Amino acid sequence: MDMRGMEPIFKGSYDVIVIGGGIAGVAASVSAARAGASSLLIEKSCNLGGLATGGLISWYEPLCDGEGTQMIYGIAEELIRLSVKYGFENLPKCWDGDGKNAPRNQRYSTFYSPGVFSAALDGYVLENGVDLRFDTLTTYPVMEGTLCKGVVCESINGREYFQAKVVIDATGDASLMHRAGVPTVSGKNFMTYIAHYCDMELAEQLCKDSDFSAFRKWMNTGSDMFGKGHPEGMDLLTGITAEEITAYMTEGKKSLIQRISQKDKHSFDIMTIPTMPQLRTIRRIVGACDFNAIDGETYPDAIGDCGDFRPDGTGKHYQIPFGALYNENFPNLLAAGRIISSPQGDGWEVARVIPTCALTGEAAGKAAAVCIQKNCRITDLTEQDIKKIRIPNKM
Ligand SMILES: Cc1cc2nc3c(=O)[nH]c(=O)nc-3n(C[C@H](O)[C@H](O)[C@H](O)COP(=O)(O)OP(=O)(O)OC[C@H]3O[C@@H](n4cnc5c(N)ncnc54)[C@H](O)[C@@H]3O)c2cc1C
Repeated sequence: MDMRGMEPIFKGSYDVIVIGGGIAGVAASVSAARAGASSLLIEKSCNLGGLATGGLISWYEPLCDGEGTQMIYGIAEELIRLSVKYGFENLPKCWDGDGKNAPRNQRYSTFYSPGVFSAALDGYVLENGVDLRFDTLTTYPVMEGTLCKGVVCESINGREYFQAKVVIDATGDASLMHRAGVPTVSGKNFMTYIAHYCDMELAEQLCKDSDFSAFRKWMNTGSDMFGKGHPEGMDLLTGITAEEITAYMTEGKKSLIQRISQKDKHSFDIMTIPTMPQLRTIRRIVGACDFNAIDGETYPDAIGDCGDFRPDGTGKHYQIPFGALYNENFPNLLAAGRIISSPQGDGWEVARVIPTCALTGEAAGKAAAVCIQKNCRITDLTEQDIKKIRIPNKM
């Protein structure tokens, strides 16, 4: 067998390499760079934002607790502002100040255009000093025991090796940490397939109201987040095999075609279809500690606070422990975003939304930079170090 080209070419060395340019990866790479680390962000598609853009999510869940108190600051807040900087918004004006007198029904959340937000994210990461690589799939971590020495990637350049002191997995499916040997758990998902559509009625409404936030609508041919609409007899989906993802995608498009075939084809357009599976919980790590979303529970190693976006979550206050971002046997691997250690149910539901992903991404980037400054393992970080990592909450 001719194996030419299979040996990776050494491409460079970074303090921090972040795999996956979703919201968590963007936040992690930017916070590492701001803390003085050389930072590389590797994304397999050609756009940033992950599910929040290519997955056609267009609603930034709230940074507040639903009772007028802002819970998350930092990069999560920079990103909500960036999401609407060049495109439509419906961010309540009361949050332009400190939001102190924000009425209960005015949450710190907004609709945004996924395309506009994604385009703006490129400038955001580059201006913050991050090196960016698109169209590059990270295939394997290079391990020496449980220490990760770097990653192997595939792109039009061929197979390349990037060396790193700390690697952050922000893949949304924990594929890198899984391949490194970190224990992981896969999720269970209802069949959700959402496209964006517009029709004559929406166009007329747009002309009347001049409100683009109401112009494109979700066409969901599957289930809502509670399972309503999940096809009868269909097993829940995990999304951890290529075969299952292929079946999910083809099934989703088939159901979309079925739905639109009942309409007058001159009366609407499907503006965009998702470029990645819209599965909420694919795989997460088993960390040193779980984030369980228990109202009022505090942790000595908290990296930040958040609220609960769900209808029954109003007024709930959670802390996220640093231990949810790593497994204690892997000294230089960190998790960010929807793959942190949070069991199916409340923890994973709260951890997986955009603001929380930005928060854990920012904390992971900062933690990586502190480990590099101190030349220590993740598990050697002290309570004092974690205080520096913590995303301040001005409550
Ligand atoms: C149906 C649905 C509805 C939702 N609704 C909302 C909502 O209304 N509001 C809200 O706030 N949240 C919502 N969410 C949740 C939220 O959008 C996502 O959970 C969040 O954006 C995930 O961010 P992430 O960065 O952790 O992961 P992802 O967005 O999954 O990003 C991972 C990135 O890594 C890249 N990647 C993966 N593997 C590799 C690799 N090996 N090499 C290189 N790159 C790789 C991917 O291409 C992707 O860009 C919803 C989710 C779903 C599925």
